[in-house]
Amino acid sequence: MLLLFSLLCVFVAIESVPHPNRANDDRFLLPADFISSRRVIFQPGKSVVSENNDEIDTVVTSEQSDSEIEGIASKDRVWPDGKVPYVLDGDFNELQRQLIANAVEDFHNRTCVKFVPKKEADTSFVRIKYGGEGEGCSSLLGRRTDNFDTPGQAVVLNVECLNPGTIRHELMHTLGFRHEQTRADRDEYVKIFWDNVDDKDHDKFQKATVLDFAQVGTDYDYGSVMHSDAFVNAKNRDKPTMVKKLKAGPEIGQRGGFSDMDILKINRLYNCQIFTATK
Ligand SMILES: [Zn+2]
Repeated sequence: MLLLFSLLCVFVAIESVPHPNRANDDRFLLPADFISSRRVIFQPGKSVVSENNDEIDTVVTSEQSDSEIEGIASKDRVWPDGKVPYVLDGDFNELQRQLIANAVEDFHNRTCVKFVPKKEADTSFVRIKYGGEGEGCSSLLGRRTDNFDTPGQAVVLNVECLNPGTIRHELMHTLGFRHEQTRADRDEYVKIFWDNVDDKDHDKFQKATVLDFAQVGTDYDYGSVMHSDAFVNAKNRDKPTMVKKLKAGPEIGQRGGFSDMDILKINRLYNCQIFTATK
């Protein structure tokens, strides 16, 4: 019996050994996160949009939408050489770290964009922040040089956003991409039911100007991870705020993963020649 008790104690001790290297450097993704992330199961194309998706995803732009439009016309919002320095800020659990690592690895494998651990000298960087209750999910558009109260531009992910599609979605905002349905040519592809758009959300349906730097000559993409779902920002959630005008193509609002066109867009905006040469 004593032997059994001792063995149990040893077992518990082994189980409670901290994650290797975790204590000092959990502000960055670790090799173990990437290795484990390959076991994360997700199905590209499968919708995991929650019913209140519109309330949990916000693109933080700026105080005045006019300056936003001016700002997004600027190529300064593109991260130089596609390198995005980052830190993790908050208590992400093992699975959540794996989901983030899985998204980051997808960018690394299919585009030339690289999320790299922030170094001392990096002044522009992304702070991937664990959002508290009610904080939702948000990102700024492209690289910013503002002086933030807390250094680094925040990408906020709360527990509802920690799914494969939404993490990729928020990080695409960080690279400079807006919602697909705000493209200048969207009226050819979706019909907006303005009467059902919540009054406070009308701005979110404004179209981009043709000067939007992230327009890289790709076709309108219903299957984009950047397209909102049909009921986004609805006053009456039994009715859509937008519908597809063309029958062809996937349903809008998928959050399973990148569409092929999303990957092409990233590669074009970031001039990833090795990935676009054969397209
Ligand atoms: Zn969004």
